[in-house]
This record gives sequence, C-alpha cells and structure tokens, in this order.
Amino acid sequence: MKKRVGVLALQGDFEAHEKALVRAGAEAVQVRTASELESVDGLVIPGGESTTMLKLLNLMDLKEPLRRFIGEKPVFGTCAGAILLANEVCNPAQESFGAVDLTVERNAYGRQIDSRVAHITPEAEFRERAGGDDLEAVFIRAPIIRRAGPGVKVLAEYHGNPVLVEQGKYLIATFHPELTMDSRVHKLFLSKL
Ligand code: GLN
Repeated sequence: MKKRVGVLALQGDFEAHEKALVRAGAEAVQVRTASELESVDGLVIPGGESTTMLKLLNLMDLKEPLRRFIGEKPVFGTCAGAILLANEVCNPAQESFGAVDLTVERNAYGRQIDSRVAHITPEAEFRERAGGDDLEAVFIRAPIIRRAGPGVKVLAEYHGNPVLVEQGKYLIATFHPELTMDSRVHKLFLSKL
C-alpha cells in the first residue's frame, strides 16, 4: 500500500512537494484542517515564509493539532519548515515547535539575490542509505543551522554548516529537494513512515 503523506498547504511551495512525494512513490495530500492532518501517516512542512505560516496556523486553529501530530508522527521540514521545527530560531527570534535540537538563523545567506544552486557531497551515512551521487541543493533565502544538538545526525553539509539532518522521526533540509528531479531525500523521509 502506498504511504499517505500530507503537505501542509497554507502557504509556500507545497505543490512542488506533492509532486516530489508522488515521484518518490507516495500518495500526497494537501493538509489545511485538523481532520486532513488526522488522515495522513507523515507530514511535509514546505518552504515559504515561516512567519506567515505561523500566522495562518493560528488563524486556522491548526497550531495545537499540528503540535500533537509532530509529537506522534514523522515530519519533514524544508527551509521555512525547518525553521518551524527547530527548538531555537534567531534573526529575529521566533516561536517554533521545538521538535529538533537545532539553532537556526533565518535568512542567513543574505537577501533573495543570494539564493543559489550548489552541488554538495552528502555524508557517507546518506550515500549508504539513499544512494551515492552528489545532491543538487537549491537554497532560497535559506536559514543556516548554527547549532545541532548531540541527538541530531548530519546527513549533508554546505560550507561547513549542516543542511540536511535527521533526529529520530524528523528530517530537516535547509534547501529545496522538491525543486529537483532527484527523489532520494523524499524517499529517505518515506522510509521513516
Ligand atoms: N526566509 C524564509 C523564512 O524565514 C524561509 C525561506 C524558504 O522557505 N525558502 O521563513
């Protein structure tokens, strides 16, 4: 049976994640309500603007249902999603769900113009589990992970900072794997479900 994965669809690039999940072999569902959240086995929190997503979560009464979901099921956060899952956010400080032991600095590479595509060689752990080639990492106003706690496994780095990490059932990317045709990162997430 196909795994049923939700994509938080309040704001940001949720459609690209839906397509990436389908390419990786899952069924993808847009999530905007608590009952939609209850129907999925895992969730992707996409890139976008974390501040706006927090406002919309409040407006739509989704914050507490999402907090409960994060406590129970696998979640993959990319970029703004990574910011929402971290336990400390700076530049500026912002509330977050604190699921993953990370300190994340928002917009740390500079302005929009500083967005870039980089080729990165993932750590051996990733290559063994997901396959050996380099990753094409698209950064868009990306945060930088300034601190990763002892329980966090670093799967890839860029310029000495972690950009793909996992902690138990959570996967975090500060780049956008949904914007390339390479399904390895999404498949790695599906392996957690
Ligand atoms: N700069 C955004 C934020 O702080 C994240 C950018 C992205 O998700 N592409 O929320």
